[in-house]
Amino acid sequence: MTEQGTVLAGVGVGRGAVCGPVAKVRPAPVVPSDEPVPADPAAAKAEVEEAFSGVAAGLRDQAGRSSGTVAEVLSATAQMAEDRALRKQVLTKIDKGEPPLHALNAVVANFAAMFTAAGGYLAERVTDLHSVRDRVVATLLGVEPPGVPELREPSVIVAKDLAPADTAALDLDLTLAIVTELGGPTSHTAIIAGQLGIPCVVRVAGAEDLEAGQDVAVDAAAGTVLVGPGDDVREAFAARAAAAAALAEDVAPGGTADGHTVQLLANIGTLEDAQRAAATPAEGVGLFRTEVLYLERATAPTKAEQADVYSGVLRALEGRKVVVRTIDAGADKPLAFVTQPDEENPALGVRAYRLQRTAPELLETQLDALAEAQARTGIKPWVMAPMISTVSEAAEFTAMARARGLETVGVMVEVPSVALRARMVLEEVDFVSIGTNDLAQYTMATDRLRGELADLLDPFQPAVLELVAATARAGKELGKPVGVCGESASDPVMALVLTGLGVTSLSMSTGALPAVRFAIRQHTLAQCEAIAEAALAARGAIDGRAAAVELMTATAREGLGL
Ligand code: PEP
Ligand code: MG
Repeated sequence: MTEQGTVLAGVGVGRGAVCGPVAKVRPAPVVPSDEPVPADPAAAKAEVEEAFSGVAAGLRDQAGRSSGTVAEVLSATAQMAEDRALRKQVLTKIDKGEPPLHALNAVVANFAAMFTAAGGYLAERVTDLHSVRDRVVATLLGVEPPGVPELREPSVIVAKDLAPADTAALDLDLTLAIVTELGGPTSHTAIIAGQLGIPCVVRVAGAEDLEAGQDVAVDAAAGTVLVGPGDDVREAFAARAAAAAALAEDVAPGGTADGHTVQLLANIGTLEDAQRAAATPAEGVGLFRTEVLYLERATAPTKAEQADVYSGVLRALEGRKVVVRTIDAGADKPLAFVTQPDEENPALGVRAYRLQRTAPELLETQLDALAEAQARTGIKPWVMAPMISTVSEAAEFTAMARARGLETVGVMVEVPSVALRARMVLEEVDFVSIGTNDLAQYTMATDRLRGELADLLDPFQPAVLELVAATARAGKELGKPVGVCGESASDPVMALVLTGLGVTSLSMSTGALPAVRFAIRQHTLAQCEAIAEAALAARGAIDGRAAAVELMTATAREGLGL
């Protein structure tokens, strides 16, 4: 039990701050290697039967008390636990003298291999199958079931790490904050949490020692988790929430005090995100991470499935700009059906646009689906490719998109080579969008998942800013839009620097929009330019940010609590 008053430090994502009880995500139980053969096979079989039935009943019960995706996931898993064939094979193995947990593991491995080979719907059920196995093992070992716990009150989710799929299974209505021992600030779980407006602190040493039910105060802006907060902390958090709500009252389009416009857009990953964004003053979507549609699947979504989702997104945001980013799989977003498992440096390997070399049908189907959505809705999306490295890749992508009637085509600037050749790249496309998460990773040669190197990944690193500046300059020269859609756009101080460098749009989680809008509105373009110059002139990231803050207006600093 972590002592009252202990402050655990990590890396915060977002600016939110909340207090609540801990709910722990439990790891999968480990099957002991020396499991004995049961002395009484009949009794062992009865126990296994009972464990399966108990797991199924528990899941049904939980599904009945949930709604939406969570209920669907739980019902599908319950159905798997009720499957007669699965149980029968385990019982047969026990009859043949195998220890029960080993028998269960072997049967599940066999089923999983069959499901994966069958592809489609069955392959998608492998996760459920593993979930049933882990729950039955936990029951037989007499330990708590693994995974995201069922929430009965608003709670702070604490985990060693969360896969994007775990995050998707969270009951958002009851999730106050997410705290993880591992992960990095630009890892995808952190990004999804940010997108959902859930305060998140990653790389919190000691998070795993927190106990379920312990009260904690999570401050994403400070990157801290305080155990046992007093009334003073609760009051301070309430005051911050009130100040944030006041900022959210300004719903005007983004722009400086002297009328220079900076489009403020939302980052989304799903149709539900699009619907949520549509209810905010976001001027559109600057980054639709379409690979979210492909995650946790054994086969790619079909053209028709994709066209349905893209049409839904376009309709939800009708009248606003929507930038669709083509599939960005690989590295931290591995896909069972395309990623090469033997890559030693996946972030430098066959990922994102480079999948054109090994699985060109993926991008072709996706662009066809997007063209179909355009035809169905009569709404024209913007489209861009991730991880472009050369001018010829940019030209090739533009030709593919245009051949399908997609008119506004761009690429992401995430690899330093493209920032250095920004002018030539921009000659091939209609716009670019800078992905500062990857641009920082590749410029600083620092894995974005390694939270302990977060200082090197800081987008205030002057070398990263130089590349942003070079790209923005090229955009100005050619009169083409240059956006930023990496997490850095959601930092109000960085937003001023980016505006000063000539970036024309900023895309972020919708929760970050009010503070960014407010910061920009408090400064003239000339002030933003001076702030950018100061950040660029600094010797390092910390100095650069401090210099930028120093030049901000007093009203902005006060309003943002800086
Ligand atoms: C980025 O790299 O900054 C970006 C926006 O793309 P992603 O985070 O999805 O890699
Ligand atoms: Mg990226």
